Amino acid sequence: MSEMMLATLSNIRTVDDMVAAFRDEEHCRRLLESMVWPNGRICPACGYKRSIAIAGRDTGKRRARPGLYQCSSGDCRFQFTVTTHTPLHATKLPLRVWLKAMWLLLQSDKGLSSVRLAETLGVSQPTAWRIGHAMRLMVARENILDGTVEIDHFYLGGRPRKHPDDPSLGRGRKGQVKTQKTRVVAIVQRPADVTPGSAAGDARAAVVTGLSLRAAVGAIAPQVELQAHLMSDEAKAFMAIGESFAAHETVNHSSREYVRDTVHVNSVEGFNARVRRTIAGVFHHISPELADLYFHEIGFRWSQRVVTGQAMRKKPKWQGKYENPLVAGASRTAVIASVPRSTGRQMRRSPDGGITIKSAVAAFG
Ligand SMILES: [Zn+2]
Repeated sequence: MSEMMLATLSNIRTVDDMVAAFRDEEHCRRLLESMVWPNGRICPACGYKRSIAIAGRDTGKRRARPGLYQCSSGDCRFQFTVTTHTPLHATKLPLRVWLKAMWLLLQSDKGLSSVRLAETLGVSQPTAWRIGHAMRLMVARENILDGTVEIDHFYLGGRPRKHPDDPSLGRGRKGQVKTQKTRVVAIVQRPADVTPGSAAGDARAAVVTGLSLRAAVGAIAPQVELQAHLMSDEAKAFMAIGESFAAHETVNHSSREYVRDTVHVNSVEGFNARVRRTIAGVFHHISPELADLYFHEIGFRWSQRVVTGQAMRKKPKWQGKYENPLVAGASRTAVIASVPRSTGRQMRRSPDGGITIKSAVAAFG
């Protein structure tokens, strides 16, 4: 296999391709390097673009291993490998396990449970669980949404449990006060370009505590540019937050209005449905503390879809194979190039031999 063939994971289409590409650690390291540094090595400490390979050189304690580089900046001289300052930092797992996990993640349309991942990779379930979470951190997007942005909220979790002391939960909003359900705000950027083959646009979701104005602002403000054109229903919190944005249009769901020309929240409602189905079908139950990690993965999958049609097709809902007729299908090309750029999140070996992930996400401390 030539160097060009190693360019991205998306070139690997079959299991035979995968066996060839991941045949030893050396190949895996070079493949990962081509994905992390598509335009040449960059020092993860200072961003300097020149560095030298120091394999075989005496570094004091031992001989430098292949894949160890040293920053050429006089002030820095940082020694690094392809995994330094990524979620794979200081991993003791072979790189081929990581690459297989990434490949499986890209191959699956709806995600993989840690149990399935463990069986497939031949690792323990707790290890697979941590691999899955590292992958979710890697696919987290940090760009701010712009253009036409739809926002909506929904609930995750089952029906409220009946409690003998408190039998009447009531219906509608009255019942929601006492439910154990998790409130989620979802944000979807509509594709600016609807010619077939363009990217579908990004989607985000975040757990919020209550749908107070403050909680909604906290979830939406850091994710959306102020010049964005916001679309939502007429929920009170959304009405208030909309005033901060360049434009805000609403559909009045309570009077059964769902689409008014280009004003609708169909994309974000499709994303909501995707989130609910994925959580129910793959992950069964997730804790609210970890939900944001799963949202990264689901949002990543969503953003990998491409526009396949020109206009909204009129189609009964039950015939629609996809949530939004404008965007369908999952494109797995050019996926990985954006993946391992999440510096600042680190995966480390724990004292008891497991893997711990140091990250900004509170779940990992
Ligand atoms: Zn440096």
